[in-house]
Amino acid sequence: MEKVIRILHLEDNDSDSKLVQAKLKKADVKFDYFFADNEADYINTLNNKEIDLILSDYHLPDYSGSDALLFAKNNFPQIPFVFISGTMGEDVAIESLLNGATDYVLKNKIERLVPAVYRAFNEADVKKAQVKAEKELHKLSLAVEQSPNSVIITNMEGIIEYANQATLRLTGYSSHELIGKNPRIFSSGEKSEYEYKALWKTIGSGKEWKGEFHNRKKNGELYWESATISPIFDDIGNTIHYLAIKQDVTDSKLLNLELIAAKEKAEESDHLKTAFLHNITHEIRTPMNAIVGFSSLLKDPDLTQDQYDHFSDLIIQSSDQLLSIITDIVSIATIEAGQEKIAKNNCNINALGALINRQCSFKAKDKNIDLSFSSHLADDDANIITDETKLTQILNNLVYNGIKFTSRGHIKFGYTLNNKQLEFFVEDTGIGIPTEMHEEIFKRFRQVESTNTRKYGGSGLGLSISRAYVELLGGKLWVESALGKGSVFRFTLPFRQVSADVSQTKITASAPVFRNVNHKILLVAEDEDSNFVLLTYLLSGLNLTILRANNGAEAVEICHSNDIDLVLMDIKMPVMDGYEATKQILRFKTGLSVIAQTAYSTEADRNKAIACGCCDFISKPIKKDLLISLIFKHLKVNLPINNFNGNIST
Ligand code: ADP
Repeated sequence: MEKVIRILHLEDNDSDSKLVQAKLKKADVKFDYFFADNEADYINTLNNKEIDLILSDYHLPDYSGSDALLFAKNNFPQIPFVFISGTMGEDVAIESLLNGATDYVLKNKIERLVPAVYRAFNEADVKKAQVKAEKELHKLSLAVEQSPNSVIITNMEGIIEYANQATLRLTGYSSHELIGKNPRIFSSGEKSEYEYKALWKTIGSGKEWKGEFHNRKKNGELYWESATISPIFDDIGNTIHYLAIKQDVTDSKLLNLELIAAKEKAEESDHLKTAFLHNITHEIRTPMNAIVGFSSLLKDPDLTQDQYDHFSDLIIQSSDQLLSIITDIVSIATIEAGQEKIAKNNCNINALGALINRQCSFKAKDKNIDLSFSSHLADDDANIITDETKLTQILNNLVYNGIKFTSRGHIKFGYTLNNKQLEFFVEDTGIGIPTEMHEEIFKRFRQVESTNTRKYGGSGLGLSISRAYVELLGGKLWVESALGKGSVFRFTLPFRQVSADVSQTKITASAPVFRNVNHKILLVAEDEDSNFVLLTYLLSGLNLTILRANNGAEAVEICHSNDIDLVLMDIKMPVMDGYEATKQILRFKTGLSVIAQTAYSTEADRNKAIACGCCDFISKPIKKDLLISLIFKHLKVNLPINNFNGNIST
């Protein structure tokens, strides 16, 4: 034996100690020898030295061998213990063995010492290895049992033999419910037979399978697992079990799915924006082409009066078209920013329907289509509270679409009343819309035809604006249609009726009182020369004195030194903007009417101007009729337009 054995010998007799050492040396046993002849030395040595073997006398003067054995077994059970005694009877020897002694050697048979030492030492070695292996096994089984990943062991037929705590926690099954079952107990039914066969083929051929399962817990909830399944081999390489190690990846999988959906949405929105830009460019350039082209032709001295009138009409028509596209784009941006507000007022829906009917009848006549409006209520009962401007935009858009997409037949529009709900309809006998596009066309920029060969103009914004407006007004908008069979667009609105008396009283109360006063002084604050020239031209039929300020600061100055009756205030101007100028002017001219006139056109812009003290708001491009009616209203004058010439000073 090569190893040095560290021996503790408990013995009171010095010559016995020497005898033992001599015997061991003679047999070439390599050892370190520690001697103790009393209890204290014995315990001290065990506590402080690494001891491989204890040899002990049975009878000692102040201590007994059986106590020494007891102490060793209680505190150092792995150290073999051999008695060497001259007087040990057979009974005592057997009892000692039962109490844990490894062996005993009688002093008169001391030749047994060396084999006894070797045997005790070897047995201790084996025991140590066993203890070590048990510890390792215990450690491994704890690791598997407490692993955060699911671990399942099956037999060769795939029947579950073991499932760790993580599996039970994740799936909600008890160990008892899983043992003896097939792992398909977790199946959500999404994996195909083909995929399961491929899995078995892989592990059946001794290889590892990696993949994902979308499984179901005991409570029916679905979860995602990333799994590695591999065969467990015996010493000679035969598969004896299968081991599945699985990780719950539900969170990351869901995050991944969300990311993919967001990416697809972003790509779609990108695609839609590109299509939008493409369309918008086309829609803007088309009227611009007519405006630019015909404007330059107006200078031609050889034009006949008819040609001149025709070209002017085309310019006006194209300008209106351009303005409506720009208005749509602004509306979409305002809706998207969540800033679209509704302004509820009294609206007579019969009067509104009749007006739209009149306005659209020219277009319908051009295409030889019958256009008709039918009302459901008597005129006096048709006063409701709603946002009249938005309702007009919605109906206009639907009726114009009807005319655009119909080549023969009719357009009928109107409303009915069911259960306190108004249901408006616009019915046409046009090209119709395929079922799969019934929802799509309400999305921004979506058109049934989106190719370059598009037959019908349009930006694809009208219906999404209309739906947003209907929803803001508390209703729903949808379409019923079949390809080639015409369409019916329907929308609901809450029926909030105003009694005829109330609407009448209101109109009387708010009607302006006109007085006949001449030579009013109007200040136009406008930095753009072309806009100023246009305004003075539009107002040239009125007997007004018009002063000009080139910026807000000049407007304040002029109001200080002149008796101004009304201000037309541009908003975006150099030096001082119109908001600030209005505020400063109203500090010393309380009650002066300031009308904001601006290319800013949203509800928010209007609100801001009113908050600064403006009495009204008109957006560019300015329509002559509207401008003059506002001036009349706020000057509270009654001027016969045709009898006056503008008296302009700049
Ligand atoms: P635009 O008319 O400017 O294209 P809309 O948002 O108003 O935009 O309409 C979107 C699409 O819905 C149209 O391009 C067309 O394909 C379809 N559509 C709308 N109204 C009708 C209708 N009355 N008949 C057939 N198709 C229609």
